[in-house]
Order: sequence, then structure tokens, then C-alpha cells
Amino acid sequence: MDDLRLSLLLNAVSPQVGGVLVRGEKGTAKSTMVRALAGLLPSIAVVDGCRFACDPAAPDTQCPDGPHDTAAPAAERATRLVELPVGVSEDRIVGSLDLERALAEGVKAYEPGLLAAAHRGVLYIDEVNLLNDHLVDLLLDAAAMGRSYVEREGVSVRHAARFLLVGTMNPEEGELRPQLLDRFGLTVEVAATREPVERAEVVRRRLAYDADPEGFAERWAQQEKELAARITAARALLPAVLLGDPALRQITAVCAAFEVDGLRADIVMARTAVALAAWAGRTEVTAEDVRTAAQLALPHRRRRNPFDAPGLDEEKLDQTLEQSAAEEPDGGPDDDGPGPEGPPDGGGPDGPSGGGQDAPEPEASEQEKSGEESAPSRTAPAPPQPAAPAASPYRTRLLTVPGLGEGAGGRRSRARTDSGGHTVRAARPTGALQRLHLAATVQAAAPHQLARGRDGRALRLRRDDFREQVREGRESNLVLFVVDASGSMAARQRMSAVKGAVLSLLMDAYQRRDKIGMITFRGSEAVLALPPTSSVEVGAARLEQLPTGGRTPLAAGLLRAHETLRLERLRDPRRRPLLVVVTDGRATGGSQALPDARRAAQLLAAQGTAAVVVDCESGPVRLGLAAELAQHLAGEAVRLEELAADSVTHLVTDLIHTDRGHSKQKEAA
Ligand SMILES: [Zn+2]
Repeated sequence: MDDLRLSLLLNAVSPQVGGVLVRGEKGTAKSTMVRALAGLLPSIAVVDGCRFACDPAAPDTQCPDGPHDTAAPAAERATRLVELPVGVSEDRIVGSLDLERALAEGVKAYEPGLLAAAHRGVLYIDEVNLLNDHLVDLLLDAAAMGRSYVEREGVSVRHAARFLLVGTMNPEEGELRPQLLDRFGLTVEVAATREPVERAEVVRRRLAYDADPEGFAERWAQQEKELAARITAARALLPAVLLGDPALRQITAVCAAFEVDGLRADIVMARTAVALAAWAGRTEVTAEDVRTAAQLALPHRRRRNPFDAPGLDEEKLDQTLEQSAAEEPDGGPDDDGPGPEGPPDGGGPDGPSGGGQDAPEPEASEQEKSGEESAPSRTAPAPPQPAAPAASPYRTRLLTVPGLGEGAGGRRSRARTDSGGHTVRAARPTGALQRLHLAATVQAAAPHQLARGRDGRALRLRRDDFREQVREGRESNLVLFVVDASGSMAARQRMSAVKGAVLSLLMDAYQRRDKIGMITFRGSEAVLALPPTSSVEVGAARLEQLPTGGRTPLAAGLLRAHETLRLERLRDPRRRPLLVVVTDGRATGGSQALPDARRAAQLLAAQGTAAVVVDCESGPVRLGLAAELAQHLAGEAVRLEELAADSVTHLVTDLIHTDRGHSKQKEAA
């Protein structure tokens, strides 16, 4: 908890540090700490009556409530903590512009949103990793520009929005996009309080409070006052803090050693070190400040795989700090050999690069368990074979989600979308009017003008005259692969073909701008090998190293998919998922293995998930289990051999499908 407290205080001292991301499991009192921070921040002066918190000393020239008179009365108020709930709407964040009123009455009706409320304060997002991607983009834009911007049909409003961003997340529920991770200056890992001493302290406080609530509150108020005074003092000292050359050299050496991308890490680290010095009442940055700054500013910026342990390698940090302190100004630190992980590789058969160290873990647990249970159809509990190389990728046929989606633009399934829109038609708005179809609106209003008593030149519009533009194009999807890596698939040649197929589908997904994820199952468990992301490189690297062998926990794989999709739907509700299960349909590990797998499949079907089973069964005797699984998933089965776009029948449907839209597909089939 001390790191969290320190991070929040450093941001209070120097808002330029750039916010805090708090990572930790549930029940760690993250939110309580964050909320307590706001009470400690010095109050601010605002222009009286301005809804956008303009500073009287320098009012926003574009303020919608402005222009403000320089002599406008000022007011003093506490710094705000604005909470942004995960299920929030776009209008609630950026504010709402009532276009209907603006058009019909000619007034600009703008209701400020949460970004306006958070200006010059703290914007707090609990479970930030579950925030809808579309809203994340809005936040990133505002954070980068320091302003918020709303436009509806040519009417626009903009206002300043600079805030301290604080987010909390439970990493078990999915990671954050790298772009958003990078927006947070610092990260802190918190664990639930298990230390007896800390627990005792919590209990003691509670008892003290119960015995004497007023006295307790008074003592706390006193402590808070002192803390607030110390923040104010540190703020005043901040401009005087000197970041000397040795400290700066250490910072750049550490950033280089941990292979962080871009210069942002160096800058955040420098600001943090300076804030630390000011907080300690010093005017010079020490080596210890640099060390602490590295621990807070770097963990989320180093290049890492989803399974890497959080935090920094302390030994490496100390070594780097020592080396760079001993060095002459011009001798750069010499890196000894390759880092723990090279850049992810496009996936040639020769390159298992990066992340190999996490592979052994599932093995260990599997071998432990294999002694206790004996499943009838299990293969020998031998260590897994070395990973089979992937066959060369090829162009795959187009797999789509049926129906009409509303997701972000792309090249996969049919959707109402702006990007790649082939057709535009008019329709009555279903929710708030987004994009006016002017011609259709005038047309709808025209016949009623006499009856409505039109006299002047203005058109008499009513709410139900409005028509909006509906554009139909293609959306991108979330393609979630569930890949069987068990013994039944482990024939080396077969596995190469399977990996080649998945690699081909991955590349196809990349070209169609999909988000991709991958779950693999073998032995005793299913692993989310690639949390939903847009990085096809990471997916390819994971695939390349995929070990095979062991039992076939198909049900576990499907259940993992169900859970992953449930969380992803919270995060990105408009993006429709396409589940691609790569399997021969077999399930082992007990007599219930197959029925369990079918129940899991039905659960996915009930969730409304579009699914395709890539049937990998081979050999002279075929059981047809994959096709059966597809039925339980209410999806389609495609034989591995038929996955290529140039297997003749599909070439035809694929072309028609891509070029002329869905309607022609049936004719060709
Ligand atoms: Zn203002």
C-alpha cells in the first residue's frame, strides 16, 4: 500500500507525472485510497459560474460559458474527483449537444460531460481495463490534447480538459491496451493485506473509531491537514529541484536496459524523480530517487509477454544503476547480450523468439496431476514434444459473423458503419440523432408545412421528421481462436498443418483489422495464451512456441472462451465476436469429458456467439465429432483442407461475398 500512497502523493506534488494505474485483485481497498487523495489536493480558484472550471488568471479562450471578463468574480473550491463508471455513455463523457434543439430552435444547447467536470481535477476510472475501447479512444484524445471536442453535424463545442488520470484494474480480468497503459505515468501493484501487523492496525483503527468517532475524526483531520501542508510545500519547492547529469544518465541507462519504447518513459521517470526529491524536501535528485522512480514508472512500459511477472527485475535495476554511476559521461552502458526477450517475430519456422520461459509452467502442473488420475484414453505422461513448426500461411476463405453489426470499421462482417460504407440510406433515428440525413428530413417535413401553419421562411420541423443516415459497410470483429494442442492432435505433421491454418487465419484477421485472441488447451487446463489484442505478431509468436501433447480438456477450452467473451463484451460491446475452434472434436479426461464439452458449447450458443469449427480430424476412420461440436455451437464446420480460399468452391463464394455483399452469396452456394 505504501507505493500506492506515494504514487498518489507524487502526482499531487507534480501533476506532470501523469497519473497512476493501480493493479490488484479485488478487495484491496484501492478505491478508498484513491478517493482519499482528492481530499488532500489544494483547492483551486475558478471563475464564478463557469461550468468549465476556468482559471480566473487565465480563462480558456474557447470556453463555452465565456468569454470571461478579466474582472469576473472568482471563487475558491476543492479539487474534484470525478468518477467515470465503466458502463458510461459517450454523451456522458464528452457532454451532449442537443442537435434537435439546435436545429429547430437555433440555440446551441450543450450539457457539459464528465471531462468538463474533471478539468483541473482527478478523473478516476475503476476497472479501467473493462472500459469500452471506443470510450478509451475518447479519453486518449482528450488526454493527449488537453481538450475535449464534440461535433454533431457541423455544430461543435470544445473546452479545456486537463486532468490527473487515476485508474484501477484487476489484471485477472484482462490487460489494458498498450496505448492506454502508456498514458499512465506510474503503475502500482497492490495485494490484499495479509500481513498480521497491517491487519491488526486496520482492526485497531476500527475499534478506536467505534470507541470515539469524534475524537478519531479529529485526529485524522489533523493528520490530513499536515499532509496537505506538506504537499503545498513540496509544490513550492518543485521548480528549485535540480536534476543533475549523473541522475539523468542513470535514468536513460535504466530505460535502455529495460528496453522501453519511446522517450516517454525517460521523461516520466525524470519528473517522478524530481517530485520525489521535492516531497523529501530536497533540491537535488539522488540515486535512490531514480531507483524509486524506475520502480513506479517502468513496469508497464517494458516490452513484455502476457505471462511475464509484473514489476521490475530488481537485480538488473541495481546493476544498471551502479554501472551508469561508475561510467564516464560519454561511455554508454554496454548491454550484455540479448535481453530476456527479443522483439516478437513475424513467425518464420525458424524463430521461437521471446517468451519461451513461460512455456514450462503448464507442464509441471500437468505432470503432478498425471500421477493421481488415470484417464482411459490419455497418452503417455511424457514431456511435451518440441513445438512443431507452422506450415507456410496461405489466403483463407472469409469467415463472417452473420447478421448486421454495428462495430468499428473493418473488412469482415456486414455492419452499419461509416468506414468502407458502400451504401447510405435514410432511416428514423433509433436513439439520439447522430448524423442528419438533410434531404430526407426536409422531404419528411415538406408535406406538413401548410398544416403546421408555416408563415415565415423557417421550415417547421417536428421531432418525427428527423431522418438519419445509415451507412452499410463492413466491421471488424473479435476473432477468438480456441486451439486444441493435446495429444490427439500431436502427430507432428498434423500439428504443423494446424498451426499453418491458425497462422493463416491470424494474418487474415490482421488484414481485416480484427482484434484477435487465443486460448489453447492441453493436459489439465485451458490457457488464455493471447488476451484479446490487435497484435498479430504476439499471436504468431505464441503459436510458434505452442507445446503439444497430453489430454484434451475441450470443455475447459470452451468455458475459458465463454468467460473471455463475457469480459470482452463489457469492454467493447459493439465488437461482435467470432469464435474459431480448431479441433478434431475429441475430448478426454474422464467419461464426462465429451458431454461436458457439449454443454460448454451450448452455453456459448446461448450467449449468441457466432462460431466456426475448423475440423482437424484425419486418418482413415473418421468420427465426425468436430461436425457434431459445430452443431452444439450452432455454428459452421469447415474441414482443415477446405480452409484455403483457393479450394475451388469457396473461392467463388469468397469473391462474391467480398465484392458485392452478402445478398449474392446464396445464389453462388
Ligand atoms: Zn469558463
